[in-house]
Amino acid sequence: MNNTFNLNKITRPDLSSLEPYVAELHPGIIKMDANENPFDFPPEITTEIWRRLGGQTFTRYPDPVAQELVKALSLYTGVSPSGIMVGNGSDELILNLMLAFGTGGKVLIATPTFSMYRIHAQVAAAQPVSIPRGNNFELDIDAISEAAKLPESRMVIICSPNNPTGNASSLEEIAAVLETCPKTLVVVDEAYIEFGGQTCIPLLERYPNLVVLRTFSKAFGLAGLRVGYMLAGEHVIKELMRVKQPFNLNVFSQMAALLVLEHRQVFQDQLAQILHDRDFVISQLTNLPEIAVFPTVTNFVLFRTKFPASAIYQFLLENGILIRNCSGPGLEECLRVSVGREEENRLFLAKLKLALESKHDM
Ligand SMILES: *Cc1c(COP(=O)(O)O)cnc(C)c1O
Repeated sequence: MNNTFNLNKITRPDLSSLEPYVAELHPGIIKMDANENPFDFPPEITTEIWRRLGGQTFTRYPDPVAQELVKALSLYTGVSPSGIMVGNGSDELILNLMLAFGTGGKVLIATPTFSMYRIHAQVAAAQPVSIPRGNNFELDIDAISEAAKLPESRMVIICSPNNPTGNASSLEEIAAVLETCPKTLVVVDEAYIEFGGQTCIPLLERYPNLVVLRTFSKAFGLAGLRVGYMLAGEHVIKELMRVKQPFNLNVFSQMAALLVLEHRQVFQDQLAQILHDRDFVISQLTNLPEIAVFPTVTNFVLFRTKFPASAIYQFLLENGILIRNCSGPGLEECLRVSVGREEENRLFLAKLKLALESKHDM
């Protein structure tokens, strides 16, 4: 009898093609690659968090359903608490959607878009199916509704505003998808909605198959604390409770998110600044003949270069600036830069000009 342990005998063959998500870590670099809020977290909110922590805050398990936070989110969104679920980042909620509804079926994804939908679909043994967007990255509603008719189709995922393309789908387009895909869930990821685009919240009352995802990671500056939330019908939330980790959102993050909502005005002022600075970045990029800029309603800008995107990416990295190389199907030679602080944006633009000049010389 062979008693040696062979890992290959117990690994899932369907996961062998799955590349683990890689987040680039470069200490000391200017980070313009992940669309985070570029400002320091408001110190007055940090002080308030510490003030509210009791002696047993860390010794006890957190509230599994984060009642206080859900109540505050209900006031903020107008959705009743029974239609709200919080997660350890919206990433966890995406995985939970896949586990509750996707496993064994097809998940239709309007691409190019955020990579976690495909990754989590595969993790949950659902089949991700790419439904390509049009020339201006608009939804192909006919193709989506055709694919949704397949009996194995379980959900449609639409990111709006879309990462990394920056464009938003209109409420009319989302409503058209909901009308033509009545048998599947339609998940709309609104991670960037605070920056622009129309929210689908008004459609929740009419469509029991609509799910809206939101996050505190972008506009609200809490990427490191991992807080996301979902708005959906009560029946959808009930199903998701079956797969949810009971203590998914830690006490500290629950408290921080609650205080962020209470201090929303600080973030409104930051948002206005970011949008103003974004328009400056766009105007400067538009002046560069080697660059084509795509319209955006978000805090990031997608652009295509005449030169290999990997070379521009590498040049910027060597010059202390990290952006995202998005080059791939539908996004050939495309890069995405997150709007930073004013001085970071200026440095990015200066180094990008140098990068383009260096490529001309080659
Ligand atoms: C950044 C991002 C998220 C974020 O998720 P968290 O897990 O909440 O940090 C979700 N969706 C999209 C499209 C994103 O770009």
